[in-house]
Amino acid sequence: MSAKEVDLFVIGAGSGGVRAARVASSYGARVMAAEEFRVGGTCVIRGCVPKKLLVYASRFAEEFADAAGYGWTVPQPSFDWPTLIANKDREIARLEAAYTATLERFKVELVKSRAVLEDAHTVHLLATGARVRAKTILIATGGAPHHGAAIAGLEHVISSNEAFHLPQLPKRILIQGGGYIAVEFAGIFSGLGSQVTLVYRGENILRGFDDDVRAHLRVEMEKRGIKIVTKRTVAAVEKVEHGLDVELSDNESLVVDQVMFATGRRPNIKTLGLESVGVKIASNGGIAVDQYSRSSVPNIYAVGDVTNRINLTPVAIREGHAFADTVFGKKPTAVDHSNVPTAVFSEPEVGVIGLTEAEAVKELRVVDIYKTSFRPMKATLSGRDTRSFMKIVVDGESDRVVGCHIVGPDAGELIQALGIAVKMKATKADFDAVMAVHPTAAEELVTMREKAMSYGRQAAE
Ligand code: FAD
Ligand code: NDP
Repeated sequence: MSAKEVDLFVIGAGSGGVRAARVASSYGARVMAAEEFRVGGTCVIRGCVPKKLLVYASRFAEEFADAAGYGWTVPQPSFDWPTLIANKDREIARLEAAYTATLERFKVELVKSRAVLEDAHTVHLLATGARVRAKTILIATGGAPHHGAAIAGLEHVISSNEAFHLPQLPKRILIQGGGYIAVEFAGIFSGLGSQVTLVYRGENILRGFDDDVRAHLRVEMEKRGIKIVTKRTVAAVEKVEHGLDVELSDNESLVVDQVMFATGRRPNIKTLGLESVGVKIASNGGIAVDQYSRSSVPNIYAVGDVTNRINLTPVAIREGHAFADTVFGKKPTAVDHSNVPTAVFSEPEVGVIGLTEAEAVKELRVVDIYKTSFRPMKATLSGRDTRSFMKIVVDGESDRVVGCHIVGPDAGELIQALGIAVKMKATKADFDAVMAVHPTAAEELVTMREKAMSYGRQAAE
């Protein structure tokens, strides 16, 4: 029997793959896609979406507590984890069905199977044994949690994948890592009532973010009862009668009910057949691609986390769309990976775009820093001990705003809108010219007049 032939075969129906498949199909390509787990990929099934639902759930605790200062009497609230998980699972199933329906509507043939490359034009579907010939192949297989070097008792450790399906809320949880997932899940579990210990190997959480943001968030997380242990790692985990005994690298130990590692993710490139076909791997561990997401094999492309460029859903989607425009829409489109806004859904939230203070000082001759830390208005009557933080980083020579950093309620929403101004190359004078919206927290962004710090001015003059 001769193999089926298509114009495009997409391996992986996640954020990048689904977008690429449907846009290519809309240009008239015959498209087939393979998914080995669930349609929607990491973001929809066990990433952004279920995570944000758990974040919403975790924030009610503060709302109930804060209500008293505003005159409300709230009876002792109680929380039921199985109800939350069941409701979340229902919503995820609805979204998965919606993604599947979209692929059907765009006439993308979906195969529920693991797919591997046999040669540059042949994909082998492991579930059925079938082979498909494709003019173009897109690898959009995403990434997976990576636990680091083996330690004793690693089999007792969960990743974010399992955290979404725990049978019960752990009373005590230890989370190792200091990146997005570690701080987000620390906030989730803490808000829902778990006792949380976060263990991070470096000096402070969120390496790569602005130092003031890192310091501010750490203080706020600690105020909410999260214990943050730095400069240590988990050395061993042992199952004991009443939980898991965790030994840290300084020999200190503690007993918890659950241990979760959020120590980064690695591109899904193993056993895909890449080596035999000649697809090169970059030094970052992802598939090496050019600005059009084309790999070292001319008819094979890769988008999203499997390329380990910027591992965010909107980036994977944009890369998938640009690939389809380039290859099937006759519109060569390179994705602009500069000034990508991002949010960490910690408690409180972080929203950032552009350069940190340290990066700006390294890259620019003159840098002006504007920053403020203030008590959000809502905290006055509630009596909550919390502060928000905002920083604007300005190129002192052009007056361009090159970085914005926010820690506080709705920072993710704020940075999305602020991202437009930064992307449009707005200057500090443009910010200052905007009338404040009062009373809001965001008005601080257009009313900061005093420089908190200036670098390189004298040398430049
Ligand atoms: P994926 O969405 O991972 O899709 C890859 C798909 O390929 C998967 O469905 C997989 O099953 C399938 N697959 C793999 N190998 C094969 C094979 N050989 N054959 C067939 N199918 C295969 N990003 C944000 O922007 N905002 C957030 O708030 C956010 N929160 C996150 C929270 C968590 C806990 C995690 C883990 C990630 C989060 N991310 C977030 C990152 C985001 O989920 C990813 O950047 C995004 O999903 C990447 O899309 P992708 O298309 O590259 O891969
Ligand atoms: P990150 O890369 O953000 O963080 C990994 C953390 O684990 C870092 O603190 C790192 O330390 C630490 N680490 C790495 N290896 C080890 C080790 N061997 N032992 C101890 N600690 C270790 O990865 P995450 O897993 O948190 O998330 C993966 C990616 O998914 C994110 O980078 C982001 O792109 C995406 N994501 C986005 C979200 C969002 O947009 N809100 C939410 C969740 C995920 P060090 O800093 O010292 O290297």
